[in-house]
Amino acid sequence: MRHFSPDAPARAHSFSLSSADAGLEALGAWREYPRVQQPVWPEESERAQVFDPLRSAPPLVFAGEVDVLRDRVASAARGEAFLLAGGDCAETFADSTADRIRNKIRTILQMSAVLTYGASVPVVKMGRMAGQFAKPRSSDVETRDGLTLPTYRGDAVNDYAFTPEARRPDPHRLWRMYTSSATTLNLLRAFTGGGFADLREVHSWNQGFTSGPGYDRYERLAAQIDKAIRFMAAIGADFDALKVVEFYASHEALLLDYEEALSRIDSRTGEIYGCSGHFLWIGERTRDIDGAHVDFMSRLRNPIGVKLGPTATVDDALRLIDKLDPEREPGRLTFITRMGAGKIRDRLPALVEGVRNSGAQVAWVTDPMHGNTITSSNGYKTRRFEDILDEVVGFFEVHEAAGTVPAGLHMELTGDDVTEVLGGTGEIDEAGLERRYETLVDPRLNHQQSLELAFLVAEMLAR
Ligand code: PEP
Ligand code: MN
Repeated sequence: MRHFSPDAPARAHSFSLSSADAGLEALGAWREYPRVQQPVWPEESERAQVFDPLRSAPPLVFAGEVDVLRDRVASAARGEAFLLAGGDCAETFADSTADRIRNKIRTILQMSAVLTYGASVPVVKMGRMAGQFAKPRSSDVETRDGLTLPTYRGDAVNDYAFTPEARRPDPHRLWRMYTSSATTLNLLRAFTGGGFADLREVHSWNQGFTSGPGYDRYERLAAQIDKAIRFMAAIGADFDALKVVEFYASHEALLLDYEEALSRIDSRTGEIYGCSGHFLWIGERTRDIDGAHVDFMSRLRNPIGVKLGPTATVDDALRLIDKLDPEREPGRLTFITRMGAGKIRDRLPALVEGVRNSGAQVAWVTDPMHGNTITSSNGYKTRRFEDILDEVVGFFEVHEAAGTVPAGLHMELTGDDVTEVLGGTGEIDEAGLERRYETLVDPRLNHQQSLELAFLVAEMLAR
C-alpha cells in the first residue's frame, strides 16, 4: 500500500500562472451541443461587462493543486484513502460568512477525525464549497397565488425572493459568485494552514455544541486521539505534519459560460484546467453523453465527477468513461451514485460490475441524499436520516459483494444546528422541522447528524 498523508500535504504545488486567452478556443465547442439548465442571460452588452473581467481574473485554484487532488482521488479509488465531500446543497451569498464557513470546515474536520481514527484510513477532505452557487431545477418556472415567475437557480443566477425583478437572471451575480468563492477559499486556506485544523485541536472543534449522543461519542474519541498524540510527543515525534491539512473545493459545473471564463491554460503543460474549483462534477440532469456539459468537461484536466441516478445504465456509464476518461487515468473520473435507499441494492450492482468487467477504474462515491428526498405532511422538502444511513449501508454491501472499492461519501451538510432532515439521535420529527429549517433548496444534515453518520461509516470501513 502506497501511503500519503493529506494531513501532511505535498509541498510540490506549482503556482505557475497562465495565460487566459491563448489555446482556449477549443473549449468553446460546447456551444455547438444541446445544453440544458442554462439561464437565459440578457443583452450581449451587459454580458460582456461580466465575462471579460472574469476571463482575465486570477484563477481561484491552481493547476498544481488540481494535479495533487487527482492523485488523491486515485488513492481513494484503490481503497488507500477515503474521499469525504460535504457542504450545502446551494451556498448563498448571505450565508457566506466567516462563522458559517468555519462551522462547515470544522464539521468536515471532525468527520475526518472520526473516519481516520476509527478506520485508520487517510481522508481526502473536500467541501461542496467556494463555488456551489448554481442549481439545476426540475421546472423552469414557479407559480404562487396565480403568479408565474422563473424558478430560483441559485444565487449565481437570480434571487430567491418571489418578485419579477428578483427572479430575473442577472449576469452581474457571476462576479459575486467569483468574489464569494475567493473569500471562502481564502478562509479555507487560512483555517487549514494556520493551525485551526491542527489535529491537536480535536477537542476544541467540539466546543460550543450542546451535549447529545453524537457529541459525547466524539468527546470520547477525541480523548483517545489526545492520548495517542501525547504518546507521540513523549517519544519525540515530529508534529509538523499535523499543523497543515489539505482541503479541496468542489462544485457542480453547471453554468458553462462561467466555467469557461474561469478556465486557464497551465503554463507548464499547455493543458486546460477549470480554475473555479479543484473538483468539478456533472449533475444527474446534465450528464447526457451528447450534451454540452459532457463535451465541456471532457476538455478539462481536473478530476471530475458524474452523478448517476437510478435510471443510469451500464452503457451510459461505459460511454461516459470513453468520453471523459479515454486514457483511463487513475483519479480522473468519479461516479457519484444517488440511487435512493430503496433502489441502490437493485440498481448499483449492474453498474459496478459492468464498469469493473470493462477494465476501467473509476472512484465510486455515494451521495445518499438526492435519491431520498420526500415531502413531509406539513409541506417541508426533507429526508429521513434512516434512509440516508440505509443507502450508505447498501453502497458498502454492493461493493463488498462485487469486490470493488467504496471510495467515498458526498453529503449535503452544514455545521449549524438546523432542523432539515428527519431523525437522528436528536430525534427531529415533522413538527421539529419548523424550528430551524433554513435551506433554500435541499435539506442538509446538521452538525450532530453529520457526526453520527461519520461514526457509522467508520465502523463499516474498519470491517
Ligand atoms: C445536487 O448535488 O445538489 C444535485 C442537484 O444533485 P443531482 O444532480 O444528483 O440531482
Ligand atoms: Mn441538492
